[in-house]
Amino acid sequence: MFMSDLKPLLMEHARSVGADLIGFASKERFADVVPEENPFAIFPEGETVILLGKRITRGALRGVEEGTNFGDYTLFGSAWLDDNFNSLMCYEVTRFLEDRGFEAVPIFPNPTEAKGMGVSVAEGKPAPNVTPDFQLAAVLCGLGEIGYCGEVLTPEYGPRQRWQMIITDAKIEADPILKEPICNQCGKCAEVCPLGAITGIKTVKIGGKKMAVGNIDYNLCRKCKNGAFPNRLLARAKPDRLAALCVRTCIHELETQKRIKNTFANSFRKRYAWAIDIYDKSTYVDGD
Ligand code: SF4
Ligand code: SF4
Repeated sequence: MFMSDLKPLLMEHARSVGADLIGFASKERFADVVPEENPFAIFPEGETVILLGKRITRGALRGVEEGTNFGDYTLFGSAWLDDNFNSLMCYEVTRFLEDRGFEAVPIFPNPTEAKGMGVSVAEGKPAPNVTPDFQLAAVLCGLGEIGYCGEVLTPEYGPRQRWQMIITDAKIEADPILKEPICNQCGKCAEVCPLGAITGIKTVKIGGKKMAVGNIDYNLCRKCKNGAFPNRLLARAKPDRLAALCVRTCIHELETQKRIKNTFANSFRKRYAWAIDIYDKSTYVDGD
């Protein structure tokens, strides 16, 4: 099979098993990535990283937005999405590649803070486990950018998705790195944060793409009771902020400004947003 034939067939198959987002990056794009986070330290003969994403359904965030149901986000928006729906999709795409004679290594999105927990098996090799940075991969695969809020934003769903990765020895044409910005630098994610955890600005450069990102105090985010959750895989890793007030405000902003494709008849934010400050005092913020 010519590699140019492989890509559309693989994309069609990935969509048929539920992928919402599919992107490709060549090995060269990861040349500057440290071995401890480099996918090609796991599979040195690999040629391509494939990133597969599924949306967090907007409805899975509804209970958090209303402050009335957090558990269903932690299942449909987080644990089940990562452990079941996305893993099955990744497994099926891995099978598709193996059935055509390519080696394909499925990679779960463990936090990068989990890297190096083992002991290096030989001099010059990074200690296991190598944990690829999925934010970086999303940018290098042309699927998104890092917004001012510090999370990956895609043109389809804004911050609403989770990822899995395949490293394969099939040499597949890379997708162009996204040019058009999604984040409009409105600063509303920072404005609504009751803990003042997003401040200032720094430039993050990935694959030649420059992004203006806020300084995030993740220690404050770990204390946040506004829809942020401890990292379920590793307590000391960055918390899950995808349902937090800052990110839900971003969803509302991107939908209102029509900066993302997956939009709805009714607005995501229907009333003032609830908020709990650092002293556990509850209030409402105008997150419009
Ligand atoms: S997770 Fe909480 S503390 Fe952190 S930026 Fe978002 S709203 Fe603020
Ligand atoms: S709320 Fe505004 S500044 Fe913050 S990430 Fe979203 S679009 Fe960017």
